[in-house]
Amino acid sequence: MENPLIQLANVNKWYNQFHVLRDIDLEVRRGERIVVCGPSGSGKSTMIRCINGLEAYEQGTITVAGERVDQDDDNIEKIRQRVGMVFQSFNLFPHLSILDNLTLGPIKLKRVPRAAAEARAMELLERVHIGHQALKFPNQLSGGQQQRVAIARALAMEPDVMLFDEPTSALDPEMVKEVLDVMIELAGTGMTMICVTHEMGFARAVADRVVFMADGAIAEVGTPDSFFSAPRTERARQFIQQVI
Ligand code: ADP
Ligand code: MG
Repeated sequence: MENPLIQLANVNKWYNQFHVLRDIDLEVRRGERIVVCGPSGSGKSTMIRCINGLEAYEQGTITVAGERVDQDDDNIEKIRQRVGMVFQSFNLFPHLSILDNLTLGPIKLKRVPRAAAEARAMELLERVHIGHQALKFPNQLSGGQQQRVAIARALAMEPDVMLFDEPTSALDPEMVKEVLDVMIELAGTGMTMICVTHEMGFARAVADRVVFMADGAIAEVGTPDSFFSAPRTERARQFIQQVI
């Protein structure tokens, strides 16, 4: 069988005395879509931030496309090019146009010629239905539009996998759908995705597996159907009642 694109093996992490990730084992195949959910403070953000080297971990191993994720600068650079990340707070560069937000990484980090980077950026902006806004600045766009730009910006680096950390939880309700729709379209392209989200409809529509975290550990893994309809642990049952 093909090696997993992402592998976390026995990962443990502490914030000082606080054991934030406990014996995390997770393998993600290329093209697979994982939804990560669980109560606030259960370690979801920490886990996905470890995958692209935004956080260090003390024990275990994480590999992306066979490359071990550690805190060595060259390594981090390589990993970040392979792993796109979308945050809750869009994190666009406020002083750059939408187009320049997309081309900065490819031009600076991948040495793509400007014309080619701009052509690709426009394709991606069309794909997230925002091509006509290319010359605006982030603060001229709605939250939902900014988040779609953030997705396009991550895709501009041609990543192997996209990580999403509660991408819709800072949005006004009427903008949630436009972002989820873009994520569903992205799933349709075969992109490998790990999404921290409590959007059950999204999970049911695209997830191959749901990973439920509690107290820094993976407490359950299942298909969306089995997880949401027949959770095995009391923690998961309680959690599902709250998000429904
Ligand atoms: P989640 O994303 O599931 O809400 P997080 O991964 O953000 O959880 O946080 C897990 C736990 O680690 C929480 O108890 C949080 O307070 C703690 N934590 C997160 N970041 C830090 C940090 N930089 N220093 C100390 N504790 C942290
Ligand atoms: Mg979080």
